[in-house]
Amino acid sequence: MVVIEAYDLTKIYASRHGKHVVVALNGLTMTVTQGEVYGLLGPDGAGKTTLFKALLGLTKPNSGECYINGIQPFNPRSRGNIGFLPEKPQFPGHLTARHLLNLAGRLFEMKPSDIEKRTDLLLEQFDLHRWPDFKIKNFSKGMIQKIGIAQAMITDPDVIILDEPFDGLDLRNKAELTKIIDKIRSDAKTIIMSSHHRSNVEALSDRIGIIKKGKIIRTIEIAAIREGKCLYEIEGNIGNVMFEVPPEVGKKIRVSMTNAIVELARPEMINGVIDVMRQKGICIKSVKPMNTKLEQSLYEDIEEPQFETPTVPEHTPTEKVLI
Ligand code: ADP
Ligand code: MG
Repeated sequence: MVVIEAYDLTKIYASRHGKHVVVALNGLTMTVTQGEVYGLLGPDGAGKTTLFKALLGLTKPNSGECYINGIQPFNPRSRGNIGFLPEKPQFPGHLTARHLLNLAGRLFEMKPSDIEKRTDLLLEQFDLHRWPDFKIKNFSKGMIQKIGIAQAMITDPDVIILDEPFDGLDLRNKAELTKIIDKIRSDAKTIIMSSHHRSNVEALSDRIGIIKKGKIIRTIEIAAIREGKCLYEIEGNIGNVMFEVPPEVGKKIRVSMTNAIVELARPEMINGVIDVMRQKGICIKSVKPMNTKLEQSLYEDIEEPQFETPTVPEHTPTEKVLI
């Protein structure tokens, strides 16, 4: 089941007199299925935060549509089931972790008894219960990220959006956060998280979408590749045509209107899949193996030096948490 959907999203930021125009999203299309961890990978300024803002109804795209659980972002009904960790979160420094979670729960109009139960559970789960009276202004970067994810999960949402959760963390904190996100995923949650570093999202993601200049330029079935599966991507005018892959040949992993990803028992079995598709009248445009070597070269294509020393464009606004 598809949980997060974005179709042909375009967002253009323009200064008042149209002197400066930035195309932050440029016809971006992507979907995330239920229970999937989707890593959004791309350089600074690629449009990751803007996509999240569009999904959350914090910015209005100029064109295109997006949905979470089939609900459009500007519909307040969508909110309760989505957790959001903003990029570089800033929380009121005088609050303790418990106070912050309490405040987050009240903003969602949760019952006080439910807030208390969830708060205890989250503080324990995120290993923050050992600091009951510690004020957030004294938190380390790792602790801020943890409380940031904890507040995103106060309503026990099914969809969690994490904007650069690993940003600025040292290796020990990254490892701890990886464990936490892994635990969240094991509860069948759908997670989308962004990063400008491949290593941060690779181990956790089922799929990686590479975003560049406001567009997903490539999607990588990283989990299947990690497991050494033989995958092929077939492009064609599939539309709504249904086709079945014989089990002795392989199986369908994902099918959209324009492409299909299949897992094969052996590479030569691709002929069997092509035969089935052709019989259904599908005109095939391309057939590509999705192996690790190929994907490696794709990463190299996008990982320009700026990945290592990211520069923030002058006019990028600072994220502020609303609570
Ligand atoms: P990322 O999160 O991938 O670093 P962003 O979505 O923050 O990228 O930004 C995409 C582009 O849009 C960048 O060029 C950025 O400077 C620009 N941008 C983002 N927000 C605004 C805004 N509020 N006003 C003007 N330009 C913006
Ligand atoms: Mg960003």
